[in-house]
Amino acid sequence: MDPALQRRPDLPPPVGSMASKLNWLRAGVLGANDGIVSTSALMVGVAGAGTSAAGVLTAGVAALVAGAFSMAVGEYVSVSSQRDSERSAIRREQQELIDNPEGQIDQLAHMFEVRGLSPATAHTAALELTEKDPLRAHLSVEYNLDPDELNNPWSAAIASALAFSIGSLIPLLAALVAPSAWMPWPIVVATVLALLVTGLVSARIGASGKRIAMFRVLLGGVVALAATWFIGSLFHTPVH
Ligand SMILES: [Zn+2]
Repeated sequence: MDPALQRRPDLPPPVGSMASKLNWLRAGVLGANDGIVSTSALMVGVAGAGTSAAGVLTAGVAALVAGAFSMAVGEYVSVSSQRDSERSAIRREQQELIDNPEGQIDQLAHMFEVRGLSPATAHTAALELTEKDPLRAHLSVEYNLDPDELNNPWSAAIASALAFSIGSLIPLLAALVAPSAWMPWPIVVATVLALLVTGLVSARIGASGKRIAMFRVLLGGVVALAATWFIGSLFHTPVH
């Protein structure tokens, strides 16, 4: 990309559909990260206890399924409650526009004044926006909400379950294709490589320094793997 077109870190976050695309991407990377770290940590922990390769794979598949469902349910609940409050804001604004249309123009004008427009310009802007689409104007100014872009809890749930599953597949495939005598190293190597990629993507989205973002993500993953390996090796009673 042309460096002049890249977002400067000191600029406010982009608005509208650009922001929602970035949010989706951010959620996808987070979900994939979760899948990578939790599945590989579980597999490494089970491997640390001396479990057979088949047992490690079974634990990995269980981690994928359990994690994907738990992500989906969590996302469904959170997006549903967000949508409920957005819908009630829409109803409230609709009612206010019916009850007190004049007062709503003043309210809009006031909010523009607070944001730096002169009283006359603020009033003109409020009038013109009210003529065009009063509900949309109020929702956008008061709640930064676009009534056509309410999140769907089902698509959010499916997307996060998918992102988690894709992340989970990385340590699973590594354990599947590598010789079982090498355990847990194939899982560790696959995890580190995958986290380098998600760290790089996070850095690009967040406009933060690439190295520090990758370092954070990697450190988190490596600590998780080391901790579960240690705990697993304490037990060292193979679960056949
Ligand atoms: Zn209003």
